[in-house]
Amino acid sequence: MFTRPPLPYPLDAFAPHISQETLEFHSGKHHQTYVDNLNRLVAGTDHESQTLEEVIHTSKGWIFNNAAQIWNHTFYFDSLAPAAHDISSRELYDSIDAKWWGLDVFMAEFDKVALATFGSGWVWLVATADGSLDIISTSNAATPLTDKTLTPLLTCDVWEHAYYIDYRNSRVKYLENFWKVVNWQIVSERFGK
Ligand code: MN
Repeated sequence: MFTRPPLPYPLDAFAPHISQETLEFHSGKHHQTYVDNLNRLVAGTDHESQTLEEVIHTSKGWIFNNAAQIWNHTFYFDSLAPAAHDISSRELYDSIDAKWWGLDVFMAEFDKVALATFGSGWVWLVATADGSLDIISTSNAATPLTDKTLTPLLTCDVWEHAYYIDYRNSRVKYLENFWKVVNWQIVSERFGK
């Protein structure tokens, strides 16, 4: 059985940036539904005995969509922290600086990609094969996990369900507040330096 990992913080940890109600729905309903769907879809198939990552690498269609959404959401929720953190990795800070000439420009570029993501999807900071950084957008359930050359470091869920309760249709306001709860500590750890 696939399960939804518990959130590593209380449901009210991000209010008012991300409300308790949003987290209740986003984690408790949306994320949980992907888990319930996947368990139902893989019952009696070879996927039943696989890890979540193995399912993502070997499936298509509904099974892939639900498996990838479980992984993407766990990665997203783990990317957030109640208290603002500084970037603990000097190497990560320097890599952001080398590519975007500072954190402010990086965040503006990330926002630009987020706002240009049509419909539902995800925006990612990834490390590429040569160790440099890039910002990419994926549609619907698509995930950089399927590209072996990429290491995902940070993601923002830009599906409307991630922000509609708090900000209605305003992805811009959601993004402004997203930056206040990014867990740079874990992003640094994912960078591996
Ligand atoms: Mn979501």
